[in-house]
Amino acid sequence: MITLFGKPVAESIQKSVQQRADLFFKKHRRKPKLVVVLVGNDPASQIYTRKKGEAALQLGFDHETLHLLQTASPSEVRLHIEKLNNDPTVDGILIQRPLPTAFSENEVVFWVHPEKDVDAFHPINTGKLALGLPCLQPCTPTGIMALLSYYKISPAGKLVSVIGRSSIVGRPMGSLLLRADATVFQCHSKTPHLKEITNQSDIVIVAAGKMALVDDSYLKSGAVVVDVGMHRNSQNKVVGDVDFEKAQNKVSAITPVPGGVGPMTIAVLMKNTMDAAEMRVGAA
Ligand code: NAD
Repeated sequence: MITLFGKPVAESIQKSVQQRADLFFKKHRRKPKLVVVLVGNDPASQIYTRKKGEAALQLGFDHETLHLLQTASPSEVRLHIEKLNNDPTVDGILIQRPLPTAFSENEVVFWVHPEKDVDAFHPINTGKLALGLPCLQPCTPTGIMALLSYYKISPAGKLVSVIGRSSIVGRPMGSLLLRADATVFQCHSKTPHLKEITNQSDIVIVAAGKMALVDDSYLKSGAVVVDVGMHRNSQNKVVGDVDFEKAQNKVSAITPVPGGVGPMTIAVLMKNTMDAAEMRVGAA
């Protein structure tokens, strides 16, 4: 059984991004720049925002957090984002979620210009992804594809279950797998006989947000399991959507939580910022 650690994969992505950032600076006399827009004082969001900023600086990017008040109105925030969209020194813009309840996600996804949309949530990017066209790709599913590729696990010709259909993880995960020639079972909370489906699957990717949803009874012998979930259990330990203890004896490979998918997300965010910067100067 192989444990699919994310750290070496994330480090190899970050190393290549750092080299590209150096080259970009030499060529264009400016650093790639990521701006994170944070609205309000959600403690977890503040930690995530700080971590993204630190990662950007470490790789030689410019970084700014635009911290707006909890009471900022959607139109006010939209104006700030419009300014960033028009600022030629800004390459990537990310709106930290969750936003206060006054904001509608269906509107917010249109705000960041698709070329600066490093989270890849804009419908232009999600549409291109679904059509298999080149675009900025969502961080977590792209990180999972990089993780599988690093460990030489090819989804091509395999039966793959994705549990979850959120616009952040499950849905784009299905698109990326389809693009990689997998046969995808896109499962969700209304899927009947989930176990029967996952039991046939060579690869099971679990992004349901339900602690220990999947145990060995959901898995065929030798399956590869990717656990996207992140929770704190009653002992305050970080755990996933998969019961690792039970699953590990049946699978050929599995991601740990923490330390599996987690490190991939920020690494791909940095890669997306670098891609966005290169695409923009290339287009200028
Ligand atoms: P979400 O709540 O938006 O979506 C969950 C999906 O799972 C839904 O589509 C739902 O239909 C499906 N689902 C729920 N219960 C189910 C069940 N019993 N059977 C089958 N399907 C079920 O969640 P999300 O944003 O996609 O996140 C999923 C998990 O991944 C969360 O635990 C989240 O914290 C974690 N996450 C981790 C990272 C990371 O970087 N490691 C990034 C994003 C999300």
